[in-house]
Amino acid sequence: MENEVFMRFKGGLEKALTFSYDDGVKADIRLMKLFDDNNLRCTFNLNTGVFGNNAHGRMNKEDTLKLFKGCNHEIASHGAKHLFLTKVDTMRGIDEVIRDKRELESLFDTVITGFAYPYGAFNDDIKNYLSLMNIKYARTTISTHNFQIPEDFLQLNPTCHHTDSDLFELADRFMTTYPHDFIKEREPYLFYVWGHSYEFDENNNWELIEEFVKKVSGSKEVWYATNGEIYWYTQAFKSLQFSVDVTKVYNPSGIDVWFEKEGKIYLAPAGKTVHCD
Ligand SMILES: [Zn+2]
Repeated sequence: MENEVFMRFKGGLEKALTFSYDDGVKADIRLMKLFDDNNLRCTFNLNTGVFGNNAHGRMNKEDTLKLFKGCNHEIASHGAKHLFLTKVDTMRGIDEVIRDKRELESLFDTVITGFAYPYGAFNDDIKNYLSLMNIKYARTTISTHNFQIPEDFLQLNPTCHHTDSDLFELADRFMTTYPHDFIKEREPYLFYVWGHSYEFDENNNWELIEEFVKKVSGSKEVWYATNGEIYWYTQAFKSLQFSVDVTKVYNPSGIDVWFEKEGKIYLAPAGKTVHCD
């Protein structure tokens, strides 16, 4: 026996689904209702420096608060004014992020740890300063067309955009195959979809997301979580301390963690040392 250990999600599940929608626009009202009606979870990436801007129907501050305060989803930063971070100098880029983070934290009485790169533009300098500002995960616009957990959360590449021609094929694969189908690579699946809700209005195709939601929601085999929940869960898994013979595990984190070893699912309760043999 090789005692290999593979992360499993909350409850021992092998799959997770998350969404990421940008810009804080009026169409988010309809999208959030669709998610809420189907128990799906999303991270909404907001720009606090351009409330009420006409482009694609951004919400004003009052409506933004009304929709997002106390909602069942995560709020993350998208830069104060939605600037191309690769087109402004470092000082201005830092200002863009820190101003948005501070304002969101004040408006929503929370701690902001997530980010989505405006226009998907990033480089190593930008990743570095995000990290120094305690931004832990930042979404790009690079589609992976797979379900791998990202190695580098500051380059959080989504599975695909909702208009991707492979969306439904990916959804079928996600719902009908399992990590345990594979002998060697039994890593859990993360299906990560991103977009802008105004695209459904502009392209008159709400049925696309409604059909997708119908396909992927309501499964007892999928953990429906925000970007942040997946990030912190993954960190908790990485913090597990195993004994040399892999018969005991200590979970120093505050999150219950599940894992698979030799085909069996184990729970490592938060703050506890338990046997896993
Ligand atoms: Zn945007």
